[in-house]
Amino acid sequence: MSIIETDKKYIANTYNRFPVEIVSGKGSLMYDVNGKEYIDMGSGIGVTSFGAADEQWQKAVADQISKVQHTSNLYYTQPCAMLAEMLCKKTGMKKVFFSNSGAEANECGIKAIRKYASEKKGPDFYKIITLKNSFHGRTLTTLAATGQEVFHKLFTPLTPGFVYVEANNIEELKETVEKEKIAGIMIECVQGEGGVMPLSKDFTGEIAKIAKEKDIILMVDEVQTGNGRTGKLYSYMNYGLKPDVVSTAKGLAGGLPIGATMLGKKVENIFGFGDQGSTFGGNPVSCAAALSILGRIDDELLGLVKEKSKYIFKEFKGAKGVESVSGMGLMIGIKTVRPAKDIVLKCIDKGVLCLTAKDKVRLLPALNIPFEQLKKAVSIIKETCGEDLS
Ligand SMILES: *Cc1c(COP(=O)(O)O)cnc(C)c1O
Repeated sequence: MSIIETDKKYIANTYNRFPVEIVSGKGSLMYDVNGKEYIDMGSGIGVTSFGAADEQWQKAVADQISKVQHTSNLYYTQPCAMLAEMLCKKTGMKKVFFSNSGAEANECGIKAIRKYASEKKGPDFYKIITLKNSFHGRTLTTLAATGQEVFHKLFTPLTPGFVYVEANNIEELKETVEKEKIAGIMIECVQGEGGVMPLSKDFTGEIAKIAKEKDIILMVDEVQTGNGRTGKLYSYMNYGLKPDVVSTAKGLAGGLPIGATMLGKKVENIFGFGDQGSTFGGNPVSCAAALSILGRIDDELLGLVKEKSKYIFKEFKGAKGVESVSGMGLMIGIKTVRPAKDIVLKCIDKGVLCLTAKDKVRLLPALNIPFEQLKKAVSIIKETCGEDLS
């Protein structure tokens, strides 16, 4: 049996994979089992921040693996402590809880919101406002937080306590805060899976104001938008927000599993011993990997992210077969005349890997993708958008 056949036979049918078997990569180039080369415009859904097999990242991982690969959270390790320090120093947040995925990072944030509100306002205050069209993960609680009915069907009952407000609808936000006992508000500043839609600054400004007035915890889900993706270290920094809780994952460790929940001043000591835990969380190899990534997301790199972003927007705006372009930094959604899936499949033929989000073609290239490769990929995607629908 081929690997594709074996996979189809033995892997649960949750992924509708593209017909490509990847065996290796270098930077933003990927190679399949037949030796075909692809320019990678998806970076494993925004995970390989510095591309595949990045040398500095490899060295950091190899060094740590040669020392010890896991200790559990019964003991102290250097990479875990150093990474928490680096995250706090770069954001002004006060403490970090490490886990292994975006969903877990959000679960922890939700627990922080609930405990704060329960202690401060009483156990009736547990509802969290999330946005329609949001995506927060696949566990039963983060699924409940996800404001998209399609994901809920057949898995009910989900964790109660979430109410959904339309993105950028200030009136609905205000009404909901008046009507319900609200503990927290959780947002993605740029809705990723929802179609790469940035929130308006008026809306986030109103959220911040209401959160402050009513002592409601503001949590930003930076799982996809974080770690340099939008041209700032975290997307909330584009909005001038000061969140109480920030969750991140995907690109933080450049390709190893990690989740991080950062706690601001209001909730820095919300958790006591035993309130939260994770066997793998803070794993020294993942943390060493993250240190090598986070340490290199500096102003120079972020400047290049913005420059590349401008280039992509300019190329696609008004291009043949393109209806609109949305997003921020190197997180871009392209609404195309042809179905997005057709374009992605055609681009695979032509040696470019890209993603979809809802009805859009989504681009999440590595932050350090060389300009030459970016230009080549953009020209191929653009050409494909403009091709006849036959
Ligand atoms: C991917 C994603 C998640 C879920 O992350 P996992 O690591 O798959 O659990 C949560 N929130 C957002 C915004 C995401 O993009």
